[in-house]
Amino acid sequence: MTATLISNIGELVTNSDKDLGIVNDAALVIENGKVIWAGSARSAPSADAKIDADGGCVTPGFVDSHTHLIFAGDRSKDYEARMSGGSYASGGINTTVAAVRNSSDDELRANAKQLVEQASSAGTTTLEIKSGYGLNVETEARVLRIAREFTDETTFLGAHLVPKESADNRNEYIELVKGKMLDACAPHSRWIDVFCDKGAFTVDEAREVLQAGIAKGLKGRIHGNQLGDTGGADLAAELGLASVDHCTHVSDKALEALAAKKVVATLLPGAEFFTRSPYPDARRFLQFGVTVALASDCNPGSSFLTSMPLVMALAIREMHMNPKEALYAATKGGAMALQRDDIGHLIVGSTADLVIWDAPSYLHIPYRMGEIKSRVFIGGDERI
Ligand SMILES: [Zn+2]
Repeated sequence: MTATLISNIGELVTNSDKDLGIVNDAALVIENGKVIWAGSARSAPSADAKIDADGGCVTPGFVDSHTHLIFAGDRSKDYEARMSGGSYASGGINTTVAAVRNSSDDELRANAKQLVEQASSAGTTTLEIKSGYGLNVETEARVLRIAREFTDETTFLGAHLVPKESADNRNEYIELVKGKMLDACAPHSRWIDVFCDKGAFTVDEAREVLQAGIAKGLKGRIHGNQLGDTGGADLAAELGLASVDHCTHVSDKALEALAAKKVVATLLPGAEFFTRSPYPDARRFLQFGVTVALASDCNPGSSFLTSMPLVMALAIREMHMNPKEALYAATKGGAMALQRDDIGHLIVGSTADLVIWDAPSYLHIPYRMGEIKSRVFIGGDERI
């Protein structure tokens, strides 16, 4: 066991409280992949090895709690159409479904690997990955098996959309998702999710699917209120889900319920940016006492980005979060959305997932939209 001292930290963000728990002129000691000491440099213990942060800022790694990054092909044509005056419709997902079904494991793995590396080079140390581009038993299970190679935070999203071939047999498809598909996917999944919105699944359908997954031992989360105030957030509160994601259109009543039930609202500004849609106002969520997480929603159709610094910058500029709230939401908020207390902060006992930024303050992360050199450590190991 080797203890490593990270010294000469100009500004340490511990996230020990909502004000980021900042310590100036700080040091951190990590051992066996964990933080074993954090505090003022003056009282730092000695260690076997030393890393010089060179006066830079150290933050917890980003926890990106919402991605769809196992896919094939791209949707640049959708982007072109939308940016030329078309609107966002969930049906575009079928294009990616066809591409995924026709791809080999190696193709899917190679595409995902590239995106995971891109994300981690920008400071992301934990990623959630959803299925939802297979939409048949074999492909959904295959996608989740591959996703597991990258993260433990895998989510079964068979109820992403009714696939084209089942358009006339909607109920049959829902039975399949709750039955055979769930049986095949549950061993590779921690979570179950449903796209509950206009053109996707209704509240009653979403409830059925989520309850089937929960009965199988999965934990629930939901895509809700992206395209309209369609009841996903209310359902999240009713079922006590970990998170409701998107929340572009959400009533005061639903916000009260989310706060009361401690359901995290995961905001995905990349989706509004890419689809040229109105952004939710994060201030409303915070005023109601709802915990906010920020995530990338990385997917080829409506948010093809992995950079959490860019997500923070968008949330600040367009959703009216302040920089402090945005960093907290992109780290601790993401961890809370995944019900994890070992990540998202840098306190004694937490996993040593951290970023040393070549900048004096965390403010430079959104201020410079992530264009700062950094050293990223995952479980105490430096990413090369
Ligand atoms: Zn999504």
